[in-house]
Amino acid sequence: MTELKKISILGSTGSIGKQTLDIARVNGDLKITALAANRSIRLLEQQVREFRPEFVCVYDEQAARDLKVRLGDLPVRVVSGMDGLIEAAAGTDAETVVGAVVGMIGIRPVIEAIRAGKDIALANKETLVCAGHLIMPMLREYGVRILPVDSEHSAIFQCLKGEEENRISKILLTASGGPFRTKTREELQYVTVADALKHPNWSMGAKITIDSASMVNKALEVMEARWLFDVPIRNIQVVVQPRSVIHSMVEFEDGAVKAQLGTPDMHLPIQYALYYPQRRYLAGERLDFFSLREITFEAPDPEKFEGLKLGMEAGLKGGNAPVVFNAANEFAVKEFLQGRAGFLNIPEMIRKALSQVPFREDPSLTDILEAEQETYEVLKCLQQ
Ligand code: MG
Repeated sequence: MTELKKISILGSTGSIGKQTLDIARVNGDLKITALAANRSIRLLEQQVREFRPEFVCVYDEQAARDLKVRLGDLPVRVVSGMDGLIEAAAGTDAETVVGAVVGMIGIRPVIEAIRAGKDIALANKETLVCAGHLIMPMLREYGVRILPVDSEHSAIFQCLKGEEENRISKILLTASGGPFRTKTREELQYVTVADALKHPNWSMGAKITIDSASMVNKALEVMEARWLFDVPIRNIQVVVQPRSVIHSMVEFEDGAVKAQLGTPDMHLPIQYALYYPQRRYLAGERLDFFSLREITFEAPDPEKFEGLKLGMEAGLKGGNAPVVFNAANEFAVKEFLQGRAGFLNIPEMIRKALSQVPFREDPSLTDILEAEQETYEVLKCLQQ
């Protein structure tokens, strides 16, 4: 019998969670110990019936009660709220926790999973963006690893394999430029939610698709890369490469540049994180360089994608600035998705929040969660 690797998935009904379960379904040697989701209980019920975890967390309490009724015939425990999410992260014998919850809500469960000695397959950007200064020292303390799931960070991670002794001179973080790459700033004033949800290459959840359209996503990825690979922000360069063939690159001291390429399919970075350092067969299209013919590059336009510029500034400033940047963006994207704000109000709200929420150097976890609330308060007042 093959040995089972136990994993717990936080955010199992989202895009990364579903694709993680695809990998579990195909490989058959992954045992799911816990599943957690916000409130999509119909899909969660199917997942529980198929993968039979020990317990399942539904963040929303009413939805958790409903799921309990639906799963009455199974010996599975249903938990809810932040306590439930933390239990799903830290309270099973999983070796690896897939952190794929969207938003700052994912920070505490990841911290608890690290304390419980679990490796983290990390897809939640907010964890390192907001709390990288707290989390990176914890990895050493508890002897665990973060295995990046985001395609760019996975690419960098793959390029760095075997280069442990060598100094990185630059990280070249690639970006597709999203659906609005060729639009003018004036045109961006009138784009709709539907326009912003049409990503040219990747299929992802709504929040991250909007973040890709505004390029705020790339700013978050720069901040994340800074912690993951211990490279200063000034040595991380965003390179727009519209077809998403190169998933990112690393330049070394001698000028050599290594890149990881592939078709845009998140199954690859997820599978790499789950079985690292092993590579496994993965079905799917392969790159065909003759039909591809060319790969083009351009610099991002900082005036048009103001969110990217503000994010780079927040990252350079450090302290709680990345927290405010991220919370303001979460707030603004929600407003945009619900039709209460225009697309260009997103960077505007971020700018206002960054200038109004008090700056704090070296924030604790409590300070981080407070800065998040302060940001929401500031923006709620402005929206009224
Ligand atoms: Mg990405």
